[in-house]
Amino acid sequence: MAETSAEQESTGQALAARLWRNRWLLAAGVVAVFAVYYFAGVSGYALLLALALLAAAAMLPVDAERQSTDAAAAIEASGLQRLSGEYLAAAVADPLIIFDHSAAMVHANAAAFAAFGGLAPGMSLALKFRAPEMQALLDSILSGEVASDAVDYTEKLPVERTYRVSASTVGHATGLYVLVFKDQSETRRIDRMRADFIANASHELRTPLASISGFIETLRGPARNDPAARDQFLQIMQNQTGRMARLIDDLLSLSRLEMKPYLKPGTEVDLRQTIDSVIDSLGPLAAENGIVVEREFANGRLVVPGDRDELFQVFENLLENACKYGQSGGHVTVSVAAGEDAQQAGFDVTIRDYGPGIAEEHIPRITERFYRVDVENSRTQKGTGLGLSIVKHILTRHNARLSIKSEVGKGAAFTVHLPAR
Ligand code: ADP
Repeated sequence: MAETSAEQESTGQALAARLWRNRWLLAAGVVAVFAVYYFAGVSGYALLLALALLAAAAMLPVDAERQSTDAAAAIEASGLQRLSGEYLAAAVADPLIIFDHSAAMVHANAAAFAAFGGLAPGMSLALKFRAPEMQALLDSILSGEVASDAVDYTEKLPVERTYRVSASTVGHATGLYVLVFKDQSETRRIDRMRADFIANASHELRTPLASISGFIETLRGPARNDPAARDQFLQIMQNQTGRMARLIDDLLSLSRLEMKPYLKPGTEVDLRQTIDSVIDSLGPLAAENGIVVEREFANGRLVVPGDRDELFQVFENLLENACKYGQSGGHVTVSVAAGEDAQQAGFDVTIRDYGPGIAEEHIPRITERFYRVDVENSRTQKGTGLGLSIVKHILTRHNARLSIKSEVGKGAAFTVHLPAR
């Protein structure tokens, strides 16, 4: 009984709402009918027409409003209206702060507490975030001129982080606002790295190009009739084109590695066979540099999962560096032994030279792209500055590690730790 009367009541309310929504249409119709009545004097029809209009207005749907009523009903049915703001804030992974019309904090989620020290309910966000861009953001949202706005903001301490901060009003007339901080630091770092990389690569290519173009000019001008100079210059130009070709090969290697970040699973590499062929292929370079390569391989099966061509490139780069930079040591040892890591079974491949070694301060940086201890020495040794970064890239794909030990004057040891599974 109570249900029926409640139903009747809500039907009455809905009817009234419909009439109210179509009030302008209704008013126009009634005026039109009475105008006809007044001028033409057709009383009965006019009354009938007015009644028909009333019925039409009561039944006519107004699309947008009906949709919003439907959406509201759906929200109510899903229980969203009863959901606490705290739960919603906690479900957001980015730092989120809810504040009121005086810019005082009302609530912050766990990510916000972790990102910004010293947050507390009631605290003034204008005092907490004093940067001019944050002040401008708070002012613009609290002025009510816009419903949402965003700025870039950099938090300097404890570590520098850059955020895209968006501010918006919460719901209708709640008097609450929300700040969401999207961490952009990693994207910025990658953008910077990419820009540096392009600048370095362009510089590396421009240097030999400038040299070639200079020699072409000399050959067409002052050295035009000098056969001895021509031969010498052509040799230099050939060396420079070789340098450009090596650089382009290394750049392509890096980009290929980036294009397929994951290894094809299920392939195995026989370390003994692969390292043997690396040593054979670098035989001429070793002989040219007066280097004797010694092998110290453990007995048994030396097999790891991985890509044979890629691991070949790793050992080739390391052995080539040992022959080039460790030339003065006269010999290089390549050893394969069971890994020392008790947690993970695997093999350690060490390439050790007895040359000048690498000073401690350079070791953490020599796997960076284009980083060289001695740029001129690297160039005379036909280096591109990309060898070790390619090595590092490949090893990451193999879930492997590179460790470098060196004592100045006594040589350097590069060890690749490869997991057996
Ligand atoms: P490059 O093409 O210049 O050889 P790499 O990335 O292979 O580039 O190596 C980076 C730098 O690390 C080299 O320029 C060199 O200064 C240093 N380096 C690498 N291997 C050795 C080594 N075995 N002994 C001394 N220095 C080395």
